[in-house]
Amino acid sequence: MELPITPLIEWMPGRKGPLIISGPCGAETEEQVLTTARGLAALGKVTVFRAGVWKPRTRPNAFEGAGSKALPWLSRVKAETGMLTAVEVATTQHVEEALKHGVDILWIGARTTVNPFSVQEIAEALRGTDAAVMVKNPVHPDIQLWIGALERLSLSGITRLMAVHRGFYTSDKSCYRNIPRWEIPVELQTLYPELPVICDPSHICGRTETIAAVAQKALDLNFAGLMIESHIHPEAALSDARQQLTPAALGVLLDELVVREVSSANKSFTDELARMRMIIDEVDEQLIRTLARRMELITQVGEYKRDNNVTVFQLPRWQEILRSRIASGTIQGLEEAFVKEWCELLHKESIRRQTEILEIKKADL
Ligand code: PEP
Ligand code: MN
Repeated sequence: MELPITPLIEWMPGRKGPLIISGPCGAETEEQVLTTARGLAALGKVTVFRAGVWKPRTRPNAFEGAGSKALPWLSRVKAETGMLTAVEVATTQHVEEALKHGVDILWIGARTTVNPFSVQEIAEALRGTDAAVMVKNPVHPDIQLWIGALERLSLSGITRLMAVHRGFYTSDKSCYRNIPRWEIPVELQTLYPELPVICDPSHICGRTETIAAVAQKALDLNFAGLMIESHIHPEAALSDARQQLTPAALGVLLDELVVREVSSANKSFTDELARMRMIIDEVDEQLIRTLARRMELITQVGEYKRDNNVTVFQLPRWQEILRSRIASGTIQGLEEAFVKEWCELLHKESIRRQTEILEIKKADL
C-alpha cells in the first residue's frame, strides 16, 4: 500500500540540511534535561530534542526513565529553546500522556516495532490526532515488520511519518552494538521515496568512538537526518552511558560532517556523470550476456550428468570454483566477501537449474 507523507519541509519550515535530533537516552532529572537541552540549543543545529521518558529495559530494576513527571520538563525545553520535543511511546497510556503535554513527535522503539499488537494499539490511540511519528526499525532485520508498522500508522491517518534506522541485533561478533545492514534502510527508501529515513548512529555503534563515521556514512547514503544521543555528563548517565556525547562533542561532530548534494546543477558534472553511467550500462549488459551464456552451459552440463547418472552437486568442483574465483577476484582488486557471495548465488542458481532438469526427466517417465 501507499504511504501518504507530509514532507518535512511543510511541518519544519525554514530548516535546511539534515534533520538533527539529539538529547539524552533517558530523562533522569529536570536539571539534566534542561542543561543538556540548553547545550544543544546553543549549537544552533539541533531541531528536535529527544528524551526517553519511559525506557524499555531488558532486566527489571534497571533505570526505566523518570516517567510522566518528566513531560513538564520537556515542555520547559520547548518553551525555553524552541526545539521540538520527541519521546518514545510503547502503550496507549504513553501516547495519551505525551500528547496531553504537547510533545511534538512520538517514536516507536525497536522493541515495540517487533510487536504488531502493540503497534496497532498505538495506531488506534493516534487515530484522528495528526501526530508526528517516527518508527524505529525492529530489533531483528525484518523489513516487512518495519513496513507493517508504518502502514498501521498510515491507516490511522498519520502522514507526518519518519523511519529511524538504528541497526539490528546480531549474535555474530561485531564492532557494532547493532549491525547497520545498510541495504535494509536503502530498500525502505527505494520503496517509499517520500518517507524521511533518518539514522541513529548511537544505537548502531553503542560507543562514542565510531559515531562520527557511521553518521557520515548515513549522510553519504542520503539519509534525511540523524538522531544522536547526548548527555550533559555521559559518564554518569543512567542508561546507554557509553554511547552518549556531551553537547559540545556533538557540536564538533556536526561541524566535521560533510553534507553532500544529491545532484549538481553544474552542466559539465552532469554530462560527465551521464557519460560514465553509459559505460556502466554497457558493462552491465555484457555481464548479463555472460551470465546467460554461463547458464546455457550449466543446462548442457546438467543434461550430460543426467544422461550419465552422475549427481548434480559435486563438492570438490564447488570447492575449486570458490577457491579459484576468490583468488582471481582478489588479484583484480575485488573484496573476498563480495566474490564469495557472488559465487554462492551463481552456484545456487546452477544447482536449481540442474535439479530442474532431473525433475523434468522424472515427470517424463
Ligand atoms: C532509544 O532511542 O533510547 C532506544 C531505546 O532506542 P531503540 O528502540 O532503538 O533501542
Ligand atoms: Mn538509548
